[in-house]
Amino acid sequence: MHRDLHWIDGTPVPPANGRWLDVFDPATREVAARVADGDASDVDAAVSAAQAAFPAWSALPNSVRARWMERLADAVEARLDEFARIEAEDGGKPLALAHDAEIPRAISNLRLFAHAATQFSSESHHGEAGLNYTLRLPLGVVGCISPWNLPLYLFTWKIAPALAAGNTVIAKPSEVTPRSATLLAAVAAEIDFPRGVLNVVNGRGPEVGEAIVRHPAIKAISFTGSSAVGRRIAGITGPMLKKTSLELGGKNATLVFADSDWRKHLDTLVRSAFQNSGQICLCGSRLLVERGILDEFRDAFVERVQALRIGDPLQAGAQFGPLVSQAQFDKVLACIERARGEGGRVLCGGEALDRAGWFIAPTVIEGLGPECATNREEIFGPVVTLQAFDSDADALMLANASDYGLSASVFTNDLGRAHRFAAQLRVGMVWINTWLMRDLRTPFGGSGASGLGREGGLEAMRFFTEPRNVGIAL
Ligand code: NAP
Repeated sequence: MHRDLHWIDGTPVPPANGRWLDVFDPATREVAARVADGDASDVDAAVSAAQAAFPAWSALPNSVRARWMERLADAVEARLDEFARIEAEDGGKPLALAHDAEIPRAISNLRLFAHAATQFSSESHHGEAGLNYTLRLPLGVVGCISPWNLPLYLFTWKIAPALAAGNTVIAKPSEVTPRSATLLAAVAAEIDFPRGVLNVVNGRGPEVGEAIVRHPAIKAISFTGSSAVGRRIAGITGPMLKKTSLELGGKNATLVFADSDWRKHLDTLVRSAFQNSGQICLCGSRLLVERGILDEFRDAFVERVQALRIGDPLQAGAQFGPLVSQAQFDKVLACIERARGEGGRVLCGGEALDRAGWFIAPTVIEGLGPECATNREEIFGPVVTLQAFDSDADALMLANASDYGLSASVFTNDLGRAHRFAAQLRVGMVWINTWLMRDLRTPFGGSGASGLGREGGLEAMRFFTEPRNVGIAL
């Protein structure tokens, strides 16, 4: 059986404690691979390697670091099919989604930040008191912790800016989907990427993840995952005064106004709710629809949801796969039961499918108000609720009735309304007449329970550098 080891100092390393974890195929519930169940001693070894590599990596001309990252992107691209297949097997996502969208995005992350290494500039201020200029220096060894839902895409979203800015990295993918990040480290070794610059330590979050968070030599933590774990990390790094970026959960609203071309946008609306079986932090899990079109919209939307092609992720044409794990499967079914208990009417789905894997039918629920747990807590699965609104004020109240503040989508043809909502929604990202339109240069992240800080473009380069201002008397 395939085994994923750690990659430390450019070398595959078994776990010091000799322990292994099972990695499951969500489409069959069978063990498909094993992954190192590392611990703090493996993190220590990785930190030593990263510390030794830092002086040379950070001293390289930016253009040389950029060239290394471009070579890494090229090497991943050359093995796109393999990366896509293991992401589909590990995470249960449709192969086409991994192949056509997520792995290409991971490659783009590496390329964007390769360019950022050469384009990043710092400020200077010339004024009455003299000249000030700001250096932006790498931090040293940094920690990157990523989740299972978009494994390589979010892994590279962190390591790429960290490396581009001149840091060396200790990275931990989720134990649920470790294979693509581990393969990336292997590919880096194949192209002779400088040793010790990118180290991958596999294992469980509370063990390896927390050892990374607590390590005094790791200067910053970039974390993407649940709000609960994000809070725990903040509680550890706060007293250590360690720089921390937290990209957390969401309970995003999708607003559909009667004046919109909502029929034209139905595919986008279905995708926004159910892509990757609803396991994307940006999925719109609360559909808010203007009451005048509610009946028509409900029928058309449910019909489109029921037409989704559910299937084995590796099967051509599958649009919707299983949930990633037994834990997710149990949690989502429990959330659906809770919604029924709160008085929700299940319009479609609402149950597990009679298949080998962790499949739950795409589910639409109505009849629940903004105070219900179903509309307040992140489910992170194929469940969307439908609520009606009567006015702009009503729509805004419902959309903002959340502790989260990640993203929202507004479907309207009224330009003024679009801009008013963009300004008044309490979220980090707003899309108008679209969903998940990403430009990698833009600020990415949310507020409230959705996290602290922003990733993307210059925001990420700034996070992974320390500004030092120099003032010169003239
Ligand atoms: P999670 O349980 O918080 O885990 C995220 C990562 O943290 C995994 O690598 C996990 O390792 C690790 N981890 C767990 N406990 C830890 C601890 N005590 N200390 C340090 N690391 C620890 O989240 P998830 O279930 O994988 O991901 C789903 C969540 O991520 C959802 O809430 C979703 O909204 C959020 N998310 C947010 C964004 C965003 O950009 N805002 C993007 C994607 C996902 P193991 O998996 O090995 O335990």
